[in-house]
Amino acid sequence: MSARPVRRIVIVGGGSAGWMTAAALGRALAGQSHSLTLVESEAIGTVGVGEATVPPILDFNRYLQIEPGEFLRETSGSIKLGIQFDGWGGAGNRYFHPFGYFGAEMSGIHFHHFWLRHVAAGGDRDHAEYNLETMAARVGRFAPATRTGLVNHAVHFDASLYARFLRGRAEASGVVRIEGKVAHVRLDPEDGYIEALILDDGRSIEGDLFVDCSGFRGLLIEGALETGYESWNHWLPCDSAVAMPAASDDDPAPFTRSTAREAGWQWRIPLQHRDGNGYVYSSAHLDHDEAARLLTGRLPGAALAEPNRLRFTAGHRRKIWNRNCVAIGLAGGFLEPLESTSIHLIQTTVIRLLALLPRDGIDSNVVARFNRDALHEYETIRDFVIAHYALAGRDDTPFWRDVAAAGMPDSLTERIEAFRATGNILFEPGDLFGPTNWYCVLTGQGMWPVSWHPVADGLPAAELAARLAALKARVAEQLAELPPHIEFLRRLSV
Ligand code: FAD
Repeated sequence: MSARPVRRIVIVGGGSAGWMTAAALGRALAGQSHSLTLVESEAIGTVGVGEATVPPILDFNRYLQIEPGEFLRETSGSIKLGIQFDGWGGAGNRYFHPFGYFGAEMSGIHFHHFWLRHVAAGGDRDHAEYNLETMAARVGRFAPATRTGLVNHAVHFDASLYARFLRGRAEASGVVRIEGKVAHVRLDPEDGYIEALILDDGRSIEGDLFVDCSGFRGLLIEGALETGYESWNHWLPCDSAVAMPAASDDDPAPFTRSTAREAGWQWRIPLQHRDGNGYVYSSAHLDHDEAARLLTGRLPGAALAEPNRLRFTAGHRRKIWNRNCVAIGLAGGFLEPLESTSIHLIQTTVIRLLALLPRDGIDSNVVARFNRDALHEYETIRDFVIAHYALAGRDDTPFWRDVAAAGMPDSLTERIEAFRATGNILFEPGDLFGPTNWYCVLTGQGMWPVSWHPVADGLPAAELAARLAALKARVAEQLAELPPHIEFLRRLSV
């Protein structure tokens, strides 16, 4: 354990990661004697993308006491009920990965086992009518709740507006923002801990704990501490993206679209004032100019900016917490935005840091546990993302053929094989993606198990049919209560 008390916390970077960290630490440490400083450089700027989220973002906002209506207004946000995947299971294939649950747990086991039995007996495979969020997305409806339950959702937002909004919160709680460019990092010659950041105008910012939110460059965690990076590029060959906001041709849909393309996939994220669009691709299979040209030709409306080119490597730092530095956001690692998980990883890393925040010094056991949990989380999300590629029913271009040959981690093979043979989803409590998520994506990509849980056989066929009918009727009733999504958004602005 280092015997240095932690009182001065310094964050480098003012993107989503920096301001989410600053707002959360500011709230947690309000009224204490800590100093919280955030250094950012407007000249360097932020990555400028990152618009789709997963439901736990609502908990994070609740922690910061952000009212949902204010949040959507301030960030030009819209509702996300899930992701529509087009072309991932081959030409013409479409499936929806919703938030929420299919049907209802029965006899202590997940609904999908009963559904598998129903399908094996000749029933239709389309399970949409048993999930409110899927049905609401189909017809563009939303309210946070019906009389009989909550509507599971996340949000889309303008990432730069979100960062600006959180900056207001953080500064109000006492976080001090310094505009400047970090030019040098001074380390303690004895133990290699970071002592101070030296700005290019000579100012020096000393601290006890440093949070590296400097984006892909990882200024502190890599530039100064040389932590190393674990690349997953061999499983996830997409290493580039071109992003372009565009005018929308319609009211914002309450879901994200992901369309498989010749060398990757294209996203479309509807906001109130525009659509976010991008093409995530493999630079070994497509060059940047061609990706930008293809994306431009596929925009829903007029382009509102020049193409923004981004390069990345799927993976993570070998340690997310190294000495007195914690890397959050792109500085810690990156998984392509196929399941919108990067902002979530920021959130969970901030919460994990808050839970283990040192007082009188940094303890190596705490750091080891932090790193183990953080890396486990990266790995489980990685497996979920790879599953989309590994089961993609496409071999029509060199990219998809190379993806099919890329293989997958053993942990994913185990999950897929277990599902194929038994219908069981192997997951751990606390995993972001649980049985419904895995079930939707695996079956959406065309994998149907050959078996199911034995308890599902216990229900007489007539009773199963009656229960299925009742569940379907309940979803239809709830759906009828929901107003159009656009109406919900309009009500926020009055
Ligand atoms: P950045 O936004 O890059 O911020 C870095 C900050 O560090 C900046 O303020 C910069 O000025 C500062 N800085 C850097 N160097 C210095 C220096 N020397 N001195 C001072 N300051 C410095 N996530 C999602 O959850 N959903 C999505 O839909 C999604 N889509 C994405 C699509 C793409 C193509 C990419 C690449 C990412 C996407 N992400 C998404 C991820 C998301 O964009 C990031 O997780 C999020 O924006 C956080 O970025 P950041 O704050 O870590 O880094």
